[in-house]
Amino acid sequence: DPVLVAIDGPAGSGKSSVSRAAAARLGFGILDTGAAYRALAWAALQTGADLDDEASMLALLDAWHYSITLLGAQRVEVELGGAPARHDVTAAIREHAVSGQVSRVSKHPEVRERLNAMFRRIVAESGLPGVVIEGRDITTVVAPNAPVRILMTASPEVRAQRRAGELAGMSQEQVLADIAARDAKDAQVVDFMHPAPGVRLVDTSDLDFEQSVEAVVGIVRE
Ligand code: C5P
Repeated sequence: DPVLVAIDGPAGSGKSSVSRAAAARLGFGILDTGAAYRALAWAALQTGADLDDEASMLALLDAWHYSITLLGAQRVEVELGGAPARHDVTAAIREHAVSGQVSRVSKHPEVRERLNAMFRRIVAESGLPGVVIEGRDITTVVAPNAPVRILMTASPEVRAQRRAGELAGMSQEQVLADIAARDAKDAQVVDFMHPAPGVRLVDTSDLDFEQSVEAVVGIVRE
């Protein structure tokens, strides 16, 4: 089985970009678990299903095929039951329409169990020497026995600044409000603000990108 590096953290902590760069440097794959929750929200919005209804979300999962690349540029594809067409949702799942709704999908316990089983299967079948897997509950639920477990944080101000840079056109206040709202909803489901016992805390507030990547790679090589 691949060596697992589990990384959790809130939106804008630098988790996704840092995890991706660290994985590349280590020669590992990268599994972004948030992409699956986003893809499920996208599918629900697409089909008009009720995102707050767990049974509807499970029915969607029964019929979908999901794939995500673990090496190189990320590509996310979804097939929905009944219409065996492949949708490349790589860009669509990053849009505000999805980000604003995804917490409604990720709050369902059984949805989480189904996706967690899928994540473990994707990793086990990857054939890679190692996989960095990042999300909100990786260090605690998905891979609590991973040899390396990291919680990445940054101050709310720093997180908003980084996100505002990505989302041209939105004010920093708006970005901060969006992140805070999503974090508050997500935090009702999993605690990704405090490191569980044995989980290393990496605060990137005062680190630049390169220093953050080095921090992660350094911990893995210890
Ligand atoms: O990491 P990202 O911001 O793309 O995650 C999108 C959403 O997916 C989060 O806001 C959260 O609702 C959900 N998520 C989750 N558990 C994970 C990863 C993401 O609930 N392990």
